Amino acid sequence: MAQILDGKALSKQIRAEIQKDVEILISKGITPRLSVILIGNDPASVTYTNMKKKACERIGMISDLIVFPENATQEEVENKIEELNKDISVHGIMVQHPVPKHLDELSILSKVDIKKDVDGISSHSLGNLCLDTQDYVSCTPFGIITMLEKYGIEIQGKRAVVVGRSIILGKPVALYLLQKNATVTICHSKTKDLPSIVKEADIVVAAIGKPEFIKGEWIKKGAVVVDAGYNKVPGRDKDVGDVEFEEAEKVASWITPVPGGVGPMTITMLLYQTVLGAKKYGTARIH
Ligand code: NAP
Repeated sequence: MAQILDGKALSKQIRAEIQKDVEILISKGITPRLSVILIGNDPASVTYTNMKKKACERIGMISDLIVFPENATQEEVENKIEELNKDISVHGIMVQHPVPKHLDELSILSKVDIKKDVDGISSHSLGNLCLDTQDYVSCTPFGIITMLEKYGIEIQGKRAVVVGRSIILGKPVALYLLQKNATVTICHSKTKDLPSIVKEADIVVAAIGKPEFIKGEWIKKGAVVVDAGYNKVPGRDKDVGDVEFEEAEKVASWITPVPGGVGPMTITMLLYQTVLGAKKYGTARIH
């Protein structure tokens, strides 16, 4: 039976360390501050942004939730980002993904000052991952790699298979695994014979958004399974991941639960990078 990669417990530990840094910064007159922009009222996005705000406040940071209506214009959103870029009391800016379809998401993300891109999904931050340099890393990939490292799971030399290639998850996690010297295969909706590719993986990262799509029988004995998926299933009271957990845990060596695996780690990395921004670029209040 697989051991559990407990993102919730690990997050608690890491957040306690971040909180100490927040206290030190506050004593120097810098309160780390994250501004989260939510456009529209997608229920999942509303839940995620509220979770982020509460997580910030619990460790003494300031968090502003800036909500635009579904029909907000590109100009309105970009003007707000420009304003936040100039505001020296703001250390991190994140735009909740996905934005309504009429907006140009890449253009919006690229407006965020690279010094405040604590969510790590601007083209600059993604480019940094390609160049093996590191400033801010996309938070879910950062959470996944941190979790593997903290649990002592070796990445170097391992065969990693990432299923999914989105810009917030699949692509950056694949690049980050590559940076950590894994041999990486990226799969997507046009990939042929996915089960046999997954079967070769020492590390499987599921980033698809389809409930229990990856079957337990596809997993190699002893593989590490990281399930980033988070899916609501009509008629079921519990949200599920992209992996068939009950079957996969019988063959894997380690596995993330859903919920309580990748999700909390993502928020923890957002807090971590905002505090990092406050440390690097924060300016003390003048009394
Ligand atoms: P996305 O943008 O919809 O991307 C899904 C990816 O899965 C695409 O690359 C798609 O391939 C691929 N895919 C779809 N059907 C497939 C199939 N039959 N076989 C192989 N690949 C297939 O989704 P996302 O934003 O990356 O999110 C993925 C999941 O992670 C969702 O459940 C989301 O809720 C969750 N998530 C969790 C966190 C967290 O903090 N825990 C953060 C972000 C996302 P194509 O490119 O070919 O279409």
